[in-house]
Amino acid sequence: MEYIFEDVVIKPSNAPRFLLDGVEVDIWCEELRDYHSKSIVEYVRESILEYESRSLDPFPEIVGKDVEKEMIKNALMSGSNVLFRGRKGYGKTTFSKSIAKLLPEKMLAVKGCKIGCDPTQPSCFSCKKKLLENEVVELTWIPRKWIRIAGDPMMTTRQLIGGISIQKIREGYDLDHPEVFTPGKVLKAHRGIAYFDELGAIPSALQTLLHELLEEKQITTPEGDIIPMKIDTIVIASTNPANYRGVSDIKEPLLDRMEEVFIGPPETLEEEIEIGLRNMSLRDGAILPDWHLKTLARIVRLARCKECRVSSFIEIEPSCRATIKLFDHLRASATRKGHVCAMLIDYGKNYEIVKLALRSRMEVEYDEISKDDVIVKLTEEALNKTCSEIYNKIPRDEFKDLMKDLSELCFEPIDVEKVDGIEDFDHVYRTLLLIARRREELSSALEILLESIKRCTGLIDKVGFGRYVYAGYET
Ligand SMILES: [Zn+2]
Repeated sequence: MEYIFEDVVIKPSNAPRFLLDGVEVDIWCEELRDYHSKSIVEYVRESILEYESRSLDPFPEIVGKDVEKEMIKNALMSGSNVLFRGRKGYGKTTFSKSIAKLLPEKMLAVKGCKIGCDPTQPSCFSCKKKLLENEVVELTWIPRKWIRIAGDPMMTTRQLIGGISIQKIREGYDLDHPEVFTPGKVLKAHRGIAYFDELGAIPSALQTLLHELLEEKQITTPEGDIIPMKIDTIVIASTNPANYRGVSDIKEPLLDRMEEVFIGPPETLEEEIEIGLRNMSLRDGAILPDWHLKTLARIVRLARCKECRVSSFIEIEPSCRATIKLFDHLRASATRKGHVCAMLIDYGKNYEIVKLALRSRMEVEYDEISKDDVIVKLTEEALNKTCSEIYNKIPRDEFKDLMKDLSELCFEPIDVEKVDGIEDFDHVYRTLLLIARRREELSSALEILLESIKRCTGLIDKVGFGRYVYAGYET
């Protein structure tokens, strides 16, 4: 019983014999000493300094966000917990996983321990007893921990903290009995990262218990016993911006123990595209050319732009998940139709794939305009921007010859899916090489070139889905 309330520290002088995979080991030898006795904060500090000394980015999974990375490195060095504030879909979870990678891939722990106690500073009473009384204690490797705890207003104490009963020990239950000790999620994050997804949604009574555990390193049981519990973890939490859909607030004492970092949308178009490409679920299939990546990413970014007229109707903006799904859907659509490279016609006659990706990921004020209308307008605006970029790639002194070639190529309406022999039209071909990065992109490049000339000059007409015709030059 006395161990329960004591701080137990194991040194070479009072240590039992340790077995690892059945072999006796000296845990203080050079090979093993880095895998125990250090706190999570110490591991993270060492790791950050190591990255700094080599001028490397400790969070390569995160695209951009240089300022936020600096703040987080500093917070972690100072031994702080971190609160990410921002809307869903901007990488808060990815960031927390990236922080967990600062921990060693594995650590030494007491074998059979429910929370993976350190063999030199046990936290649970079962390990305290074992390490002080047993002659031999078996150890094991535990992998790096990142425990996600979803904020749930219905969460119970048992789920979050766990069940601990001194009463049961007094009644003679074994220390390892589940009635005596069953760790909840936070306790399972011992020696790892506890990621609270939507911390504010956790009932405030539980937030108080959490604060007690993290700050005072103790737990008050339902029976009123106060038990020391040295849980070693860094809390990374996320929360939506205040007053967003009735999510309850984080209590003051808890908030006071965290450094807040705002995580917003990607700053540049290039970062938006990079995030989309990295997270797509459709890894293979049709090529997504530059002009379509830009158009799709622009649709999402226009929806977030508060100065833009159409987006003023948008109440909830689409996150990077919209960008990711737009990329996936365009590739899916093009691949299904057997296109080697995605085309504008793969967006659908009325931009159905854009609607598919955006409808569930944004909200508009319905009285004013329908969501589909907003999506179509955003797509048109994004296409205008991309097309003017393409149009500007045409060398001015080439334009006349290009149009002469096009007047022959598109003398009759052409179907962009079935154009052959572009190489025979020298000026068209040379212009396409300025747009496309590889041969497979040529038909798609011809389509966007025709669309760009249509949008910017009106010298090309669109007659039906994917069909273009020369509108007359020098008429
Ligand atoms: Zn233990």
